[in-house]
Parts: sequence; structure tokens; C-alpha cells
Amino acid sequence: MTDLAGTGTRYIDSYYGRTVKAPAARPAMTQDVDCDICVVGGGMAGLATALGLAERGKRVVVLEARKVGWGASGRNGGFVSAGYSLGIDDIEARIGRKDADDLFRLTLDALALIKARIERYGIDAGPMRDGIMKASWYRNADGLKIYAEKMRDRFGRALEFKSREEMRELYQTTRYHEGLLDSGAFQFHSLNFTNGIADACVSHGAMIYEDSPVIRMNLAGEKKRVHTATGSVTANQVVICCSGYIGKLHPKLARATLPVGTYVVLTEPLGDRLQGAIRAPYGTSDSRIANDYYRVLPDTRLLWGGRVSSNLSPRNLEQKMIGDILHIYPQLAGIRAEIAWPGTMGYSVHKMPQIGQLQPGVWYNQGYGGHGMCATTAGGEVVAKAIAEGDETYKLFAPFGLDFAGGPLGPLIAQCAYWGFQIQDRWQAWRSN
Ligand SMILES: Cc1cc2nc3c(=O)[nH]c(=O)nc-3n(C[C@H](O)[C@H](O)[C@H](O)COP(=O)(O)OP(=O)(O)OC[C@H]3O[C@@H](n4cnc5c(N)ncnc54)[C@H](O)[C@@H]3O)c2cc1C
Repeated sequence: MTDLAGTGTRYIDSYYGRTVKAPAARPAMTQDVDCDICVVGGGMAGLATALGLAERGKRVVVLEARKVGWGASGRNGGFVSAGYSLGIDDIEARIGRKDADDLFRLTLDALALIKARIERYGIDAGPMRDGIMKASWYRNADGLKIYAEKMRDRFGRALEFKSREEMRELYQTTRYHEGLLDSGAFQFHSLNFTNGIADACVSHGAMIYEDSPVIRMNLAGEKKRVHTATGSVTANQVVICCSGYIGKLHPKLARATLPVGTYVVLTEPLGDRLQGAIRAPYGTSDSRIANDYYRVLPDTRLLWGGRVSSNLSPRNLEQKMIGDILHIYPQLAGIRAEIAWPGTMGYSVHKMPQIGQLQPGVWYNQGYGGHGMCATTAGGEVVAKAIAEGDETYKLFAPFGLDFAGGPLGPLIAQCAYWGFQIQDRWQAWRSN
């Protein structure tokens, strides 16, 4: 556990927790304060909202139950790319071409905004590297080329097609066929980025309280009151951004949230052995529905993510994750894990973020699932503009509502769906070979 602030909650033991730059000491809420907007949840959804509001001159208070970035935002793969958990074709099938394009463009803008904020606020989110490769698990050259053309024509986005031969140069595995390289996407240290965004909020006058779980909210009336065990915030507006950790705080939002466990492992430095397996400098994810994703750190350690489960403390996690690596790179047999850790993603059943207003002055911003590092900045801007400027872009998300996510059975259903995806992936791989 890493407790650099010296008190209170610690980050879980992970690559990020071990390498977090000493975050500012942030107090717990022990008083009653007044502000324009109270944001509940200090992950990237909450902080992007808070920063968007603070940059627009609003008085903001963020209440975080543990530490900034303690949840998914500070434990993830560190891949930052446009789009949502739901693919563009599925979004279009649901809401039509124009709105699908508008939604996608929000994330392209967010990608640029993330880079601009790193620059503007001097955030050290390194190691940063451009380029994320989607490696096709199936023979699909035509499909990838068509997709790349579509992205170019609709968004001016340059995705570079890689033939099977080029992929074999970059990746010493027989598992992959062709690939698509997105040079506009990048990888970064998600926990240091999240803390940097929190510092940027404070630089605009926002107040951030950690170790301050919200236990009750009085949301009726013009003035809303948000309570922790030892203090409260009175605000004109409240934005709830608790994702998979929402618990019982707000039954309607909790019912629409499917908490899904997933995992990352960090290997020991692989040295020269790495060249015999992975030569690509990019972040890489494969095209299976139940896929793996990974990136190589500058010191040759491999940060590898994948798997989905309702169990957040699976037995032998390190061995299981190493097994996943060897499934693709058997030549790495014998490598050891330094550490493996779990995280909880907050999914909606439709796999799109849930953004909107429950009643006047009460907003929600959640449901980013496994693709949130860029999309949370898009969602944060949308909510900040809605509150600060009366902008109505957030209504693009209206078709993706607060559908029931299965209640206590939700995680089990997600687990079964994942097993189903694995079978589907194997069947498709067999057919394409
Ligand atoms: C292992 C893993 C790997 C991932 N890899 C990637 C990746 O490579 N790229 C990518 O784009 N996405 C990835 N994701 C998804 C991404 O991390 C999430 O979509 C994103 O971080 C969601 O941000 P959030 O703010 O909604 O949720 P969180 O970061 O989980 O934040 C929610 C916060 O709310 C707080 N909270 C909850 N209840 C209360 C309360 N009552 N009072 C106060 N605070 C409260 C929690 O403590 C928490 O800090 C990954 C996720 C995981 C778990």
C-alpha cells in the first residue's frame, strides 16, 4: 500500500500506487461549506467535470470517498484513445449516423484536450508513448481496411493498416493476423494524470476532499445538501460520478450500474527476451471481444491487462495473468510477475456512458466501462458546459439511459457473458484459420 499523503486511505498496491508522484495532501471534509457545484467521486469522470466547471469560473467542491484516482482511474491500462466501450457501428445502428458521429467527435476533441491539459498544467503523466495497435485475432484484412477508410472519411482520422507480414515483424506471435495502428492514441500514467487534473482543479479554486465518503444527499429543493460523516456541502447543483463504487448511495444510479472486475499484471523487466516477442513500441490490444491489452514500459517490464470476473480477489491472479501472456507469447515461459491487481469498471448495459439530469440541478456522469480514459474527459466537458453555459450537447447521450443492470445478479450475468464471448472468440478464430 502507498500512503504518500501520510494519513487516511492508501492506494492499492499496483504499478501506479508504487510509482505515484507524491500527491498534494488533501483534507477530509470536516466542516460545512457552500459552493456552486458539488461533484461526488474523484475519479476521472468527476475530476474532468470539476475541472471543466472550475475553468469556467464556477466554485466547485469534489468529495472523494478514498483518494483521488483510487478507483478505476488510477489502476487501468493507461491506454488513451477515442471512442467508447460501444463501437461506432453499434452506436450508429442505435441512434443514426449524424448523432453517432457527433458523439464520436466529442472523444476526438477530448483526446486533444487531454494533451493540451498535460501541457498547460505541466502534468507529468509519463512514461507517455504515442500509438495504439489493434491486432486482429482473425483474418480480416478487408474489414480493417474498410474501417480505416470510414474513420478517415468521417473524422479525418489516420489509422494505418499493417499487413500480416508487418505484424509478424512487430509481434513474434502466430496469434495475430493484420493490424490497425492509431497514431493519435497514446499511453500514459493514469494515476499521475488523474492527480494532475485534481491539482489543476485546485489551481482554479476548486476544493477537493479525500477520505470523505458521501453517505447521504438531500437533493430536493433549490439548495442541495451533500453529507459526509463529518461535514456537508451545500450546492446549487450536484454531479454524481461514483461509477462501479456507487454502492447504495443513489438507488436509481446504482441499479443502472454493473460493477465488473478486471485485472492487470506487471512483469519483471524482460530485458533482451522482449525482442524475441514484442518489438512494437505501441500499446497493443487484440480484437477478441474478451481481449488482452498490453504495453511495454521503458525498463522492459510488460504491463498486461485482461479478464473479467465477478470475483475481485481471484486466487493465483499473477499466475493466471502470466498464463494469458504465454498464450500469445509461449517463448516468454518462465517470466515472473512483480505484481497483479484488480479494478472495478462501472458498466451500463448498453456500454455507453450515462450522462444526464435526474431532476433540476442533479446530474449524473458514469458508466464508462473499460474505455474511459479519454471518454471521461469528453463527458466531463459535456456536463461542465451544460451547467456553466446551458449547452445541450449532453442530450446526445439521452438514448443511452439508466437501464436496469441486473441488480445483485448483474456481476454474475457479466461473468457468464464473458465466458460466452470467449467461446464466440474461439469459434471465430477457428473459422478464420
Ligand atoms: C483494470 C482496468 C483497466 C482499464 N484500462 C483502461 C484503459 O487502458 N483505457 C481506458 O480508456 N480505460 C480503461 N479502463 C476503464 C477506465 O479506467 C474507467 O472507464 C474510468 O477510469 C472511469 O472513471 P470514473 O471516474 O467513472 O470511475 P472511477 O475512477 O472508478 O472513480 C469513481 C470514484 O468515485 C468514488 N466514490 C464512489 N462512491 C463515493 C461516495 N459515496 N462518496 C465519494 N466518492 C465516492 C470512488 O472512490 C472512486 O474514486 C480500465 C479499468 C480498469 C478497472
